[in-house]
Amino acid sequence: MLNSIKSDKMFEIKDKDGLARLGEFTTPHGTIETPTIMPVINPNRELVSVKKLEQEFDTQILITNSYILYKDQNLRDKSLSKGVHDLLGFSGPIMTDSGTFQAHVYGDIDVEPEEILDFQRRIGSDVITILDEFTEPDDSRETARKKVQKTIERAEYAQKSKKDGKSLNALPVQGSVYLDIRERCGESMGDMNGDVYPIGGVVPLMEDYRFQELVEVIIAAKKGLGPRGPVHLFGAGHPMLYSLAVLIGCDLFDSSSYAKYAKRGDMMYPEGTRNIEQIEYLGCECPVCTSNDLKDLKEINKKENVRLIAEHNLWVCFREINKIKQSIKEGSLWELVERRARSHPKLLESLQVLNQEYQFLERFEPRSRDRASLYTGQESIYRPTFKRIKNWILKNYRLPKDGPTVYFELDQSQKPYSRYLREEIEMLESYDVNFLVSTQMGPVPLEMDEVYPIAQSVFPSHPVQIISLEHYKRKKKIDELIRWEGEKTLTTLSKSKGPDFDEMKIRATADYQFGKGAGEALTNGTLSYIKNNKGRIKNVKLDRDHILSIRHYDGFFTLKESGARILLDEFSPPELRINVTEESAEFNRDGKSVFSKFVTEMSSNLRHGDESIVVTEKDDLVAIARVFLTEEEVMSFDKGVAAAVRTGFERSKDTPI
Ligand SMILES: [Zn+2]
Repeated sequence: MLNSIKSDKMFEIKDKDGLARLGEFTTPHGTIETPTIMPVINPNRELVSVKKLEQEFDTQILITNSYILYKDQNLRDKSLSKGVHDLLGFSGPIMTDSGTFQAHVYGDIDVEPEEILDFQRRIGSDVITILDEFTEPDDSRETARKKVQKTIERAEYAQKSKKDGKSLNALPVQGSVYLDIRERCGESMGDMNGDVYPIGGVVPLMEDYRFQELVEVIIAAKKGLGPRGPVHLFGAGHPMLYSLAVLIGCDLFDSSSYAKYAKRGDMMYPEGTRNIEQIEYLGCECPVCTSNDLKDLKEINKKENVRLIAEHNLWVCFREINKIKQSIKEGSLWELVERRARSHPKLLESLQVLNQEYQFLERFEPRSRDRASLYTGQESIYRPTFKRIKNWILKNYRLPKDGPTVYFELDQSQKPYSRYLREEIEMLESYDVNFLVSTQMGPVPLEMDEVYPIAQSVFPSHPVQIISLEHYKRKKKIDELIRWEGEKTLTTLSKSKGPDFDEMKIRATADYQFGKGAGEALTNGTLSYIKNNKGRIKNVKLDRDHILSIRHYDGFFTLKESGARILLDEFSPPELRINVTEESAEFNRDGKSVFSKFVTEMSSNLRHGDESIVVTEKDDLVAIARVFLTEEEVMSFDKGVAAAVRTGFERSKDTPI
């Protein structure tokens, strides 16, 4: 049973794209939508007023430093008597930091961990941060390990002394640049069931443009934490970094940078920073830049000028977050990340890590998206979506016939290729040959050409070569390809009794979508088809039973009852399955969604958007559903929909209740 370890009651995933997610985070002072930025408020130096943040910006949550409140007698008294919400004049959620960063800057602080924890509770903070030990990038392994140990002990204390329902605990993941220490720290914090997981000790990496290490550190922390959340990237205040951080699973950012930068006259943009003195043309559409002349921005009295630049910086940050959210919704976040990475070579370099971490990222990568994948540059070929199909074609795809391979070289605008080759296919399908076609990704089996992302991607006209012809030939042990040169090619070929092209298509697609063996099981009998007026298969029948339909937009199958039963026979549990409790099954049979808390087991191979088969613990067919959360996510979340039921089935009469 997975239920015993589920815990995350305060965070729910509403939508996602890979590791990136649109989430809902519930605090004692209301629910916020993530990803979001928490502007840092220093009550001693309020540059942009809280009222303005609340009314004019998308501010849902603030962060303030409890150590600063604690050290100032006046602020301490006020916050203890009125509470931090009254003190700041903000009715929404407030997170408090603990002084860890001050310890990093000044070497030491004079407050005990229990003292500052208790203070944060007494002033009514919604999210309390424990006083953790800031691990520096140049700490030795031993130092980092000791600091992490201390941080874990303090987190344990904070969790034990927590009063239910009053406030939430943020348990930071430390570990310097030692990835195994980061991962283990993430695991320990996650096991304690914290409410927010800040990734700490990363500001020096960001300040020095060590983005590659930053990405490695975040991914290591995520591996340890699992899908739990929300994850807070401590001190990340530059919009240039947000999309990449969200892509690898960060949900919250805190920013004092908008103010710090403004004091130097630095204006932030998603593609970098410019000082106001260097700016000759504004080129920004935020309210500050559209309602002020550049001359005024440069000349008005210093204090007003700093405030306006701070507001511009906040506008830019919040707008970038909105762009990111839109990208998650439409499944285009990778493209935004690749474009943003071009703003600095060090950022571009950090995308290498995503390539190296394919195995991890793939676990969260949908097999299909609603929109085409756009190529933005050579880093695009490392996206998990392209690497997955490449790996499958090279490693798992089996040539359907024993004979030679006929290779079609086409004009790249002729997508999907098989429709331009209908006559050739008709001529060739009774011969003992396999079909290979040149695409912008490189050569792919022709019968796969309508499957996402082969037809659903846009490349420049020069060849991109995700798969190379030489590699394909070597992997498939093809000595020589027969290049198609029209009917005369037929004279060299021998006839075959093997599968026709439609059957080849069903076998290859089913094996790719459901796993090895699905193609054979689903074609074991007499096949017939219902096609549309363009000759495209809509429905597949096996011995007169409708088993599959083909989705026009991504070439994948939707399952029908008979198809699902064939797959249940072919694949042993838990493959392709979501097991639910009997209680849930009754609702799912009526077409209602599968909720995470009722899932008892699930295949780890199911990805977001996949067709899945909902069964009872006795493996009785309940429904066919579209996966929303992966197994790892289902394990972590009590809240939310795990899969949306497409078709529910009545209990079969011979099934005992
Ligand atoms: Zn602006």
